[in-house]
Order: sequence, then structure tokens, then C-alpha cells
Amino acid sequence: MKGYVGKILRVNLSDGRISKEEISEEMRRKFLGGRGFAAKILWDEVSGVDPLSEGNKIVFSTGPLTGLPLPSSGKMVIASKSPLTGGYGDGNIGSMAAVHLRRAGYDVLIVEGRSERPCYIAIHDEKVEILDARKMWGQMTFEAQDSLEAKHGRNVGALLIGPAGENMVGFATVISQRGRAGGRPGMGAVMGSKNLKAVIVKGTGEIPVFDKERLREMGKEGYGEIKVKENYDFWIRQGTMQVFEWCNENSCLPTYNFREGAFRFSKQLDGYALEGVKVDRKGCPLCNMQCGNIIKDAENRNAELDYENVGMLGPNIGMDDLRKVGVLNRMADEYGLDTISLGSCLGFLMEASEKKLIEGRIEWGDFDACKKVIEDTVKKRGLGEIIFEGVRKASERVGGDSRDWAMHVKGLEISAYNCHACPGMALSFGTSPIGAHHKDAWVISWEISTDRFSYSKEKVEKVIELQRLRGGLFESMTTCRLPWIEVDFGLHWYPKYLEAARGTGIAQEEISVLGDRIYTLIRSYWIRENRSWSREMDYPPSRWFEEPLNQGDLKGYTLDRARYDEMLSQYYEMRGWDEIGIPQKETLEGLGLGDVVSVLGKNG
Ligand code: SF4
Repeated sequence: MKGYVGKILRVNLSDGRISKEEISEEMRRKFLGGRGFAAKILWDEVSGVDPLSEGNKIVFSTGPLTGLPLPSSGKMVIASKSPLTGGYGDGNIGSMAAVHLRRAGYDVLIVEGRSERPCYIAIHDEKVEILDARKMWGQMTFEAQDSLEAKHGRNVGALLIGPAGENMVGFATVISQRGRAGGRPGMGAVMGSKNLKAVIVKGTGEIPVFDKERLREMGKEGYGEIKVKENYDFWIRQGTMQVFEWCNENSCLPTYNFREGAFRFSKQLDGYALEGVKVDRKGCPLCNMQCGNIIKDAENRNAELDYENVGMLGPNIGMDDLRKVGVLNRMADEYGLDTISLGSCLGFLMEASEKKLIEGRIEWGDFDACKKVIEDTVKKRGLGEIIFEGVRKASERVGGDSRDWAMHVKGLEISAYNCHACPGMALSFGTSPIGAHHKDAWVISWEISTDRFSYSKEKVEKVIELQRLRGGLFESMTTCRLPWIEVDFGLHWYPKYLEAARGTGIAQEEISVLGDRIYTLIRSYWIRENRSWSREMDYPPSRWFEEPLNQGDLKGYTLDRARYDEMLSQYYEMRGWDEIGIPQKETLEGLGLGDVVSVLGKNG
């Protein structure tokens, strides 16, 4: 099958071995690429290890559309066993490294082992080296990018960690191009545990495709179609920040550690406020939607904002100044911290402080204290030490009733949507394959515009449908889903793109099976790695069930636990998993995952 370079590059940092392997036809057919490849590799190769040990591996995985001249195709998936959750972790990132990796002749890079001293991997087509990074160790991500560009040229693709990754903060992420971030569940910490500061890639070859001319023509048509879409101009003005005001109006804005769904000062932070301070925009390679909003922050430096980071570092911590949010966000990018988890951790500390559960004080919206906590988190001291491993571990430390308002699922902090009155979105967070992240099923806009308060079977079906498309197809092709979601770029393009790239398209039925296979394999991974697996792992935090909203139009609302439970049971049934969410033998076999059966035991 064309559309693939066909090779996995494997670098072992313990003994310096570098090898190249073929990607089998079966692997291409069954797992497509990106997340599909990563899940299969981790299932086969990473079992029972401490995520920060030498035995863990980190997979940088592209798909058959990555790097081709098609809308928003400059993406790759970074995956590993997560130090934050203990389960499967991944994230996608827009980076020239994704494009260059394919041009250099590899679809996937697997890094294993641990280097004795700080190093980075330099890939230049056939030439692959492990180089000394001691001088870069300790550098912020932007500075490290400068150092690498000074040595290897401005046009290399780079994936880097900052001091947060080096020091293995649980929610350290990977940064590229001074602001693109990926790998929320601690992928940066895994790189740090391997003493791996960066991966840089320069590829000069051509990515082999089935029909180059048709692909180029269809790509051009696709870019053109996006630009004339009705919402395109507004998107260019605000990007994902266009939902801020909508979230506030619909009481789903994360506010005061998800206690509330609307923020009194929302007008100071919303998309229109952003337009007032925006100076530029940037984004991922091969994308004409460039959704990174650049502002001058309160320290007069450039910061890149989107909805998730403004939601979590704004209302969620009581911060009412967009330019101050910009500073916190830029600091997170420089240190290499995930902004969503950071906002949740800060909100957790503020609430713990308010309830006098911790000794140190940090008030809602205290900008200077937030800056200090960011630095202290990276250095594992003071209040930062409490949140070093995320809110789940923080609540174990702090005690009291903090477990009820440590806002995570499976250890991953919830992204910026309050679900007191959004049962479908709560289910989506509950069943997301990496912990509570919106990437896989952003069902909230459909939910609010249809039958918002119901716990219907239709809603469960919608969550699964979106998980198949967003988490299965898009994460594995691997392209950005936002053209489809945000400007209504036609889904019908993608089978055609796959056909021109591979010589074979993908039918609707195959998309469903692909998504189900990947989800079920990832679920199996979680169960294999978590011997104490229980149904409660798929629950959102108690706060949404027990503590009603106190403000706004939806004052008094909570989720209904019994009805959520019913939805969860329906979800399991539709997926062919048992009553505690373990895939059944017939399901595994039907999806071509027969090798998983014996490992899972009881049902499998
Ligand atoms: S829409 Fe935004 S996130 Fe998606 S590829 Fe473009 S710049 Fe990147």
C-alpha cells in the first residue's frame, strides 16, 4: 500500500543502537497510522513498566496524510505510557518535525532506553545521530529551539522539552516552533526521564503517494474551499476563542475550579477582548486556518492564546486580565508545562488554600503568586511540590474532601468545559482514551444545540460516533480535525485524500471499525496496566454530581449520578465491553484483536 514511507526508525538511548524496520501491510491496513500505530506499538512493547523508567518508550507517529499538500496535515502523535495517569497517553502536535520525519524516510520514530547524559536525536535523512545536549539542559523551550536552529539551520523541525520535562513534572509536555504543544499526559516528562532534550529532523526526500497530481489538485481545492467557508473570517479573527463567550452564556465556562460555569469578568477575556490585543497569528505547518492568537502579554512579550488555555488560566483561577493570562501561558510554553493541567492545578491550590487545607496561601486571581507557583512546580518546592504530579496526586496529599473537587478523570486534568449541565460532554470526558480531554469527542456544541439536559441513548451514540471520527480517523490519518469542526470543511474529502495517497480510500464502515479497534486496544492497554481497574475510572469528579451551580441561568443544576450510570452502561454495551468496561472476547476477536484476548484474562 502506498502513502507510507514504510519505515519505523528505532533509537535506543541506553546502548546507542539505531535500527530501521518495515511497517507491515497488516499494520497499515488495521491501524492506519498516527494514534493507531502508537497504540499498537505500546500494546506490543510497553507493559508493566514504570512510565519514568528506562523500560518505557516514546512513539512519534505520523499517518498516511501527514506532510502532504493537504489542509492542516502538519501533525503527528506523540504517545507513551503516561506518568500522569499510568495508562495510555498521547497528544497530537503541529510541527515541521512531522513533515520532515516523513520526508526523511520514516513514518514512526520510537525512542527507548535512557541516555546516561543529556542528549538529543538529530535525524537528517539517512543519517541519525545521538548528540550531546549538556549545554542545552536547563534551557527554556524557546531558547533551546534557538540553540538548535543556530546549529542545524532554521528550517529543521524540532520537538523539545523545557525544564518541566527535564525535572519530570507529571504534566510536562512537548513543545515545537515556540508555542505548538502536544502530549498532555506527561509526554515531556517521559522525554526528560530518558535525558532526551529534543528530537530534530530534516528530510529532503519526497513522500511516496499513489496519485501525486490528483492529490495536489484536490489539496488545492480543499484549501480554496476552506477560505470561502462562512465562518472562515471570524475563525481567522478569533480562532478557538470564538467559543469563550458561548461557553459563558451556556454556563459551561470552567470557573473557580469548575465550581461555576459563568464568570463575572468574561467580557475582559472573551474573543472580542482578544481581538483588541491581538498582534499576529500563527499555527501548524500546511494549515491555512492558523489558529494561534498572538498577543503582547502583560510583560510586553509575545504569547499565544487559544480557548483552552484562556479558559483554564482565566476564569478557572479567577484571573480577569487577558494580558496576565498571556504571561502565565507563555511561561507554561517556555517551561514546557501543559496549560490545561496547569490551570486545573492552580485552581485546585486556590480552593485548597481557601478551605485552609494547605499551609501556604494563594488567592483566586493572584497573578504574582501564580507565577511563583509555576516556577516552584518546575523546581518541585513550596506549593509547586503539591501539584508536581497533577491534581489526582495533589488531592491524595492534601486530603479532606479534596478528592471531590480534584478535577480530573483517570489522572488527567479536565479540559475547559464545565459539565454540571452537560451529561453528554461528561460522558465524553469520562470515556476519553487518555483521561479527561476534549480532543476525542467534543460533543458539547451538538449537545447544547439539541436536547441539552437529556441522558438519551442518542447522546451516547453521538459520543461514540465522534470518538470514531475525531479519535480514530483524524488522529490516525494524521491531520487536524479543526477544518471539519470549525468551518464545516467537508468530511467527504478525507476518503478521497486517502485514496489519492494510498491507492485505496476508506468506507464509512471501515472508519467505524478502525475507530473501534483503536479504542478497544487502548482500553485494553489501560486495563492491562491498571490491575485495580474499576467502573469508577470512567466517572467525572463528584463536584459535578454533588455541588450545584451557584450562579447564572443554570443555578441549581448538577449531573444526575444514576442517569450518568445508565448512559455509561449503554456506552459499554454499544462498544461490546462488559459491565465494568472491559472488552469482551467476541468484541476483541471481531475487531481483529485476538492477541489481546489471552492477556485480558477473565472476559478476554
Ligand atoms: S487549525 Fe490550528 S491546530 Fe489545526 S492545524 Fe491549523 S493551526 Fe494547527
